[in-house]
Amino acid sequence: MAGGNFDADVVVIGAGPGGYVAAIHAAQLGGKVMCVEKEFLGGTCLNLGCIPSKVWIASVERLNLVKHAGDLGVKVSGTPEADFDAMKARVEKIVKTQRGGVGMLFKKNGVEHVDGFASFVDINTIEVEKDGKKRKIAAKNFIIAGGSSVIHLPIEGLGKSAEENVWTSDDAVFAPFAPKSILVVGGGAVGVEFAYVFNGLGAKTTVVEMMPNLIPMFDEDLGVELGKQFKKQGIDVVLGATVERAVKTKNGWKCTVKGAAGTQEIEAQVVLLGVGRKSNTDGMNLEKIGVKLHERGIGVVNGKMQTNVPNIYAIGDVIGKIQLAHVASMEGIIASENCMGKDKLMDYKAVPNCVYTIPEIASVGLSEGEAKAQGYDVTIGTFNFRPNGKAMAAAEQDGFVKIVAEKKYGEVLGMSIVGPHATDLIHEGVAAVKLEATLDYMTDTIHAHPTFAEVILEAFETAAHGKSIHTL
Ligand code: FAD
Repeated sequence: MAGGNFDADVVVIGAGPGGYVAAIHAAQLGGKVMCVEKEFLGGTCLNLGCIPSKVWIASVERLNLVKHAGDLGVKVSGTPEADFDAMKARVEKIVKTQRGGVGMLFKKNGVEHVDGFASFVDINTIEVEKDGKKRKIAAKNFIIAGGSSVIHLPIEGLGKSAEENVWTSDDAVFAPFAPKSILVVGGGAVGVEFAYVFNGLGAKTTVVEMMPNLIPMFDEDLGVELGKQFKKQGIDVVLGATVERAVKTKNGWKCTVKGAAGTQEIEAQVVLLGVGRKSNTDGMNLEKIGVKLHERGIGVVNGKMQTNVPNIYAIGDVIGKIQLAHVASMEGIIASENCMGKDKLMDYKAVPNCVYTIPEIASVGLSEGEAKAQGYDVTIGTFNFRPNGKAMAAAEQDGFVKIVAEKKYGEVLGMSIVGPHATDLIHEGVAAVKLEATLDYMTDTIHAHPTFAEVILEAFETAAHGKSIHTL
């Protein structure tokens, strides 16, 4: 397509999971598409976020499984130990392979990859700059998918660089060494995942979280359970507390941690900042061409992912709404459909939110607290993994499934899981919430035996009838 004075129907700025998916989808709908990327194909997710962090987690999980192989009657000779360099090499290899995969998909789908930094000249033109060379591109529509970047929290006395052993998540995914001790600032998804990794690699690990629970964006029962499991793994958790200041020591940092329970000094070789990101909008001339910004990024004005300038769309982390890769991708699909003349709205009702620690954490829809706050009369069903046959066979019995449903008609409003395979199991809840399924429907649904998923069925039965077949 394209034509007239346009070089493209759609130019996507940024090739993260929002941008590259949007670009490919627009091309598959018949558009002439370009995708401008200033750094690496795959964005934060593939290069510095979702993928590398999960590679580390997979290595640590395997190490822990081997350490506990005896529980399943498997003898392991010698002491299993982490080979840090081999693990890191694996992270680098997988990131590189995945990045190449995006390039290949661009080629197969006819998306032109433009290397450089994009800034707007007017609402139909951008300038792309690479190593001093400039190229102007005109397009009917733009999708801004510039993502977000780490920021350093302003903590008095604390250094601001990896050389000083103050790491952001960007540093941690390619950690220069395995620290002997680490203080993780922030008990959200990023903080707890790295705490699990570095603790597993042998670091004395402390997590400091400002809120009264770990992973505060989830149902509080999940944070409580994760805290219990972390304690068993030897991770110290300080809740309702902040790092007030830090002093450099010979081996790292001495941090003053202040909270409801008083003030304590915690020493660690490395301080990892697990919180704080900012939207990437600097230098793009957005205000100049009339695109409204708010304090957390680009102000999106409607569900079609259109900004206040109708031919300019924005998706993913840059809009500062929900900073998850799969949300960015779906927003990308919606934006590209609308760019290509369709009329589609984004639906945020059933967004899975996952944390890949062991135990895994996942949720979708409303938590119990959110449902009550929204005025729902709720019925709750919980069921533990402990008695489940598959969980017992695998020696993975910690955790539970919790269902939140509306009482009168039984509509499933939300599901939360802490325990084995939570991040995969949650998709039954995603489908139930999306399809507005009722408890009757879900309890009529046959679940294979023996599976971890039977715990979900038992939780649905408990929400519907107050008990399930296996309730004691
Ligand atoms: P990004 O992935 O940030 O991509 C934006 C791209 O745009 C970048 O490549 C950037 O270089 C480019 N760009 C910016 N400005 C310009 C410009 N002017 N010109 C050209 N190019 C530009 N999310 C999950 O769903 N699951 C997880 O398990 C998960 N784990 C995470 C772990 C960590 C440690 C971190 C930091 C994040 C994690 N996330 C996870 C969040 C996830 O990475 C982001 O939500 C996701 O990457 C957002 O996608 P995006 O396409 O909006 O932006």
